[in-house]
Amino acid sequence: MANTRTPLMAGNWKMNLDHHQATHTVQKLAWTLKDAKHDYSTVEVAVLPPFTDLRSVQTLVDADKLDVKYGAQDVSAHLEGAYTGEISATMLAKLGVTYVAIGHSERREYHAETDALLNEKILAAVGQGLAPVLCVGEGLDVRKAGEQIPHTIAQLQGALAGIPATQLENLVVAYEPVWAIGTGEVATPEDAQEVCGAIRGALGDLYDGELADATRVLYGGSVKSSNVAAIMSQPDVDGALVGGASLDPEEFAKIVRYQ
Ligand code: PGA
Repeated sequence: MANTRTPLMAGNWKMNLDHHQATHTVQKLAWTLKDAKHDYSTVEVAVLPPFTDLRSVQTLVDADKLDVKYGAQDVSAHLEGAYTGEISATMLAKLGVTYVAIGHSERREYHAETDALLNEKILAAVGQGLAPVLCVGEGLDVRKAGEQIPHTIAQLQGALAGIPATQLENLVVAYEPVWAIGTGEVATPEDAQEVCGAIRGALGDLYDGELADATRVLYGGSVKSSNVAAIMSQPDVDGALVGGASLDPEEFAKIVRYQ
């Protein structure tokens, strides 16, 4: 069956850009893409700013009727209550958020997020109509031991345990080898394909061919305009989760326009 997945380029800003800078960056991104006559139906574009920027981004996107989508970098597993410092999926849905990154390696490492917690976060997100971008991927030691596939698939299975296919219609999975994040050390297109293909295979085993075929699997880790085309040429890579390079709207627009 022909692949009908629309590629997604998502910019993970991490803890960068305040709400003024966010407005400026999204505006510049949208102008650059407009100048290039970008057709958003061929490559979808999203930014994931810090929580404090979301309202400003929403206001801009609504006022200028932009096709740029936006999302959050994390979400609480709880919907409301005494959880100081947390942000709920309900709050994000109210801000018109489309995507929410779940289980980024920096959250797993610095906030001790476990697969069981990520499972709850995915349930909270999909319950409010948000599309989870579930991040998985191995560290350098695992890669050196050649265990990247079992390691990454175990993360996928842990995060999705018990969640029925009917709740995962908008699931996106991002394969982000930790050794390639922010290091300038990009995975080869073949490395990316190997694990992205294994992720799709595992989705087929866990669910069915339909879900596996419909789910977008992104690659993330030192993606730039100079290496994105080679990565995107792989059959199971459906887009990129872009960190550092997404902070520069002109560079990010080039990534979006990789073809
Ligand atoms: P990077 O980050 O593109 O700066 O390597 C990717 C990510 O962490 O999502």
